[in-house]
Amino acid sequence: MRPRDRLRIAMQKSGRLTEPAQDLLMRCGLAFRQSRDKLFCFGEGEPVDLLLVRDDDIPGLIAQGVCDLGIVGRNVLNEYQLTAGREDAVALAEWRALGFGRCRLSLAVPQEMDYAGPVCMAGKRIATSYPGLLGRWLRERGIDAGVVTLAGSVEIAPRLGTADAICDLVQSGGTLAANQLRETDVLLESEALLVGPQVLPADERGDLVGLLLKRIDGVIQVRE
Ligand code: ATP
Ligand code: ZN
Repeated sequence: MRPRDRLRIAMQKSGRLTEPAQDLLMRCGLAFRQSRDKLFCFGEGEPVDLLLVRDDDIPGLIAQGVCDLGIVGRNVLNEYQLTAGREDAVALAEWRALGFGRCRLSLAVPQEMDYAGPVCMAGKRIATSYPGLLGRWLRERGIDAGVVTLAGSVEIAPRLGTADAICDLVQSGGTLAANQLRETDVLLESEALLVGPQVLPADERGDLVGLLLKRIDGVIQVRE
């Protein structure tokens, strides 16, 4: 990959993390001008640009060296780390926990199900968009269950009869209640992270990351 002299940060184009992530960077003193195709935002003062993408693509973009940093949920980062192939050159690290986008990845069962612990899932089918994280949780407990991978609308799977339980992101629990489900086990506590390579580039971009981390720490401290 050709060396770059500008830092490139990947963030969610449109979703729950978009506004708080933009707000954080603004508080760090960064200002951007959006390109016409809405893929890039060009930094106006500092040599820092944004790439606006689906959150699921962010870990891969960093691992491939297309971006230097990313703002993404721990759920997405960990799922990527468990399921990505070995072709990616760069190991990823959590540089900072950012305090927004908080949620948990939880197991939930139909309200009327007798649930006395994870072993109750043996022989059952669980619908999820997180087969890596769910698979690890089941393996660690020696539970043999079917994992049904769905891209979305996981919460309706039990009503459709395509699964007996679900493993999905929960924030308030409102979606679970609306679908007559009850949360039983938390697999992962998540929040938005600043993610980057374990080893920073040894050029100007590394210095820029250092500067950005300092500013982020300042912003986080003020908020706390
Ligand atoms: P896209 O893939 O198009 O970028 P998405 O549908 O995967 O969007 P959002 O629903 O905007 O993404 O969620 C983005 C992130 O916000 C999640 O990965 C998670 O880290 C966090 N989040 C916080 N609360 C919730 C919640 N209740 N449901 C889903 N995600 C949540
Ligand atoms: Zn997504």
